[in-house]
Amino acid sequence: MPRQPVSLDLPTVKVSPRGASRLKTGHVWVYRSDVVSADAVAPGSLANVTDLRGKFLGTALYSSSSQIAIRMISSEPVADLAVLLRQRIADAIAYRESVVQDTDAYRVIFSEADFLPGLIVDRYNDILSLQILTQAMDADAVRETILQELSNSVHPASIVERVDPRVRELETLSPRSSGLLQGEKASTTFTMNGIHFRYDALEGQKTGAFLDQRENYAAAALYAKGEALDVFCYQGGFALHVASHCSQVTGVDSSRPSLEVAEQNTALNRSDGQPEIEWIEANAFDLLKDYSSSNRRYDTIVLDPPAFAKSKRDLDAALRGYKELNLRALKMLRPGGTLITCSCSYHVTQSNFLEMLADAALDARRTLRLIEVRGQAKDHPVLLNVPETAYLKCLMARVS
Ligand code: SAH
Repeated sequence: MPRQPVSLDLPTVKVSPRGASRLKTGHVWVYRSDVVSADAVAPGSLANVTDLRGKFLGTALYSSSSQIAIRMISSEPVADLAVLLRQRIADAIAYRESVVQDTDAYRVIFSEADFLPGLIVDRYNDILSLQILTQAMDADAVRETILQELSNSVHPASIVERVDPRVRELETLSPRSSGLLQGEKASTTFTMNGIHFRYDALEGQKTGAFLDQRENYAAAALYAKGEALDVFCYQGGFALHVASHCSQVTGVDSSRPSLEVAEQNTALNRSDGQPEIEWIEANAFDLLKDYSSSNRRYDTIVLDPPAFAKSKRDLDAALRGYKELNLRALKMLRPGGTLITCSCSYHVTQSNFLEMLADAALDARRTLRLIEVRGQAKDHPVLLNVPETAYLKCLMARVS
């Protein structure tokens, strides 16, 4: 096979044999320690990637400051970045059309998993929320292309940008605040699986919803019954979905602003025969300890804590945290009850999580039957050879 030509007008990043072999396994990142030379490669620019001997390995977006120095955007030469971006955005939208159902809120673009590293776009009904995570995606020309393409193909009422100051600092980008990029509408309601939610792009925690749980909410509703406890409930995603199947629902979170939105969401979904949902502001660890020692009992418990393992070093501590929560929940479930337990830590693998739960079941002297082993919703695609794109685990199990 003839060697592919490299685009002559792009700078070149040369990677070490370790970097090159990582790319050959299908991964799309090369760390700075595996970059041998990146002479005259401007921050955030498009670059040809070669091995030590100059063999072309693909085209990447370069960061001058992140530990992830290059993120591949194509295995081919790229003549025109704007054309490629438009195509990738169109492909991401088309993919959602084929896999997303029963919702007007979903992730439209999921960074590496949509071959657009450094860009995340979520849709909340008529508002698009954009996150820019790298120097390359922050370039003026790139921003303009993205906005134009999203605007022309999705026709949102407005587009907002959510800024994570820490990310901008790591990428040595100048500070910027969150705000409207296009249009004036900053709040809306969205509907998933028939349940309505409020979305405020510029107020509160600005985090939007946990769209990655959307399909798990619908599955949870299939198995939920009786008295339900939604621990780490945020704005009520699980609680609101299970309410019509339960006689009583309690949501617990330590964030008052989240519970205020949960309360508004309850009002949006009020219907005859639905139980009132009680929202409690508390530290989940303390509350579970109190409730289990006072012999409270439930038929359905949801555990969806924040990521406990931010890095590999935290794995053991994270597993201990998960085990404590799951152990207490298992002790409080009535025979025939259902545990829905989640982890969004990438560093906790599915097998770590299953093992933790098996351990907790032994300690709690309960027998668990797995009903479902689930992950993130399909609008958060998993790129098989990039393990970092798979992060959410959601186990549903019947307790006897
Ligand atoms: N289940 C939610 C998402 C949960 S995100 C949904 O589907 O929408 C994690 C939540 O845990 C956040 O709302 C955060 O406020 C809450 N949280 C973090 N630490 C907590 C603690 N120690 N006790 C109670 N809630 C906590």
